[in-house]
Amino acid sequence: MAYLHCHDCDWSQDDFWSLEGWNPEKAMEGHWTLAFNDKYYMDRNFFKEANLEEKMHENEKGCWIRGQDLLAWELRRTARSVETMAVRTEREWKQVRDTFVCPECGSKNLDID
Ligand SMILES: [Zn+2]
Repeated sequence: MAYLHCHDCDWSQDDFWSLEGWNPEKAMEGHWTLAFNDKYYMDRNFFKEANLEEKMHENEKGCWIRGQDLLAWELRRTARSVETMAVRTEREWKQVRDTFVCPECGSKNLDID
C-alpha cells in the first residue's frame, strides 16, 4: 500500500486503490458487524473528536454509542475519503505525476510513502 501526500502542507489521501488490494470495500471490511451490536463504549474524547456528541449515551459503565450510529459514521468517513480521492491508483499517478499539484496548497512537492 502506498499513499500520496504533500511535503508543504498536511494534505494526504487514502492509499492507492486496486481491485485485488486496498480499496473502499476493504476499508469497510469488518465494519458491517457494528450494526448488530447494541452498545460500543468509547472514550468521551472520541465523541468530541468525531463530532458525534449528539449520538453519545451514558450509563454507569461510561459513554456509549449505538452500533448502527457507529456504522453510519464509518460509512460517512469512507464516503468522504472516496469523494476526495484525488489520484485513485498508482497507474493513474504515473499518468498525472508531472502535472499534479497538491489540492490543498498547489505545491508540486508531493511524495508517496
Ligand atoms: Zn500541499
